[in-house]
Amino acid sequence: MAKYRLPRGMRYSTLQERKHFYTEEFDRRKVAEWLEEHKGKVKFAVIIGRHTKIYPQKYKEDASTTIIIDEYESLSDVRDEIIEFLPEAAYYDRNVYDETDRKTGQELAFDLDPENITCPIHGTLADKMRRHQGLSFCKLELELVKEQALSLHEHLKKQFSRMKIVYSGRGFHIHVFDPEAYALSAKERRQIAKTVKEKGFQIDEWVTAGEMRLIRLPFSLHGLVSRIAIPLEKGELEGFDPVHDGRCLPKFLSQSALTS
Ligand SMILES: [Zn+2]
Repeated sequence: MAKYRLPRGMRYSTLQERKHFYTEEFDRRKVAEWLEEHKGKVKFAVIIGRHTKIYPQKYKEDASTTIIIDEYESLSDVRDEIIEFLPEAAYYDRNVYDETDRKTGQELAFDLDPENITCPIHGTLADKMRRHQGLSFCKLELELVKEQALSLHEHLKKQFSRMKIVYSGRGFHIHVFDPEAYALSAKERRQIAKTVKEKGFQIDEWVTAGEMRLIRLPFSLHGLVSRIAIPLEKGELEGFDPVHDGRCLPKFLSQSALTS
């Protein structure tokens, strides 16, 4: 099996780059727009350096911890927290809570990642894990995962009407905002995940079933690949190339290209 790491041009972001992104580029207005779909107060979360092992020294002990951000007044406060931690990843909690912090529902989501795709060159996820390449992927896998996202969206349209696709920095997420999707029971979610799997979609079942309630925050920086997570229209997906598309390229990449 061929060895690989990531498509050309995708790499870890440095702490300085994370800082640059969240200080200069992070678009709170777009984040606010995205979260309008979400009822009730949103909880955010960050992981500082679990995979990259890149973290501010003072947070060495917490580098792999999922840190919840739920005490804030505004998105500015959230951004300030993010700048304090300089995380490799930022998420939000899909659970909906009432005033007493009781869970009342959950946004339904589907997570398609390139490493889950069985690649004719690099094999199955199990093959990749054996070679300690569970987080690696190639351009072909990106193409295949894109095709899966398109056809999964098609498939879900039979059941749901309010969906959004997000390029996550690696693969794609499909978010469902239909009210009846928020109200699904855990059992119903597991059933949906199972059915979708049986149809051949290589989703992460934990996300759809709801056990994994966090999902990458749109417009945040994916620090393993130096890409911005962005929502895409379905029609944009086919021609979308995350290696070159300017919308998902943080400014520091073009700057580092100029200076190196
Ligand atoms: Zn591959």
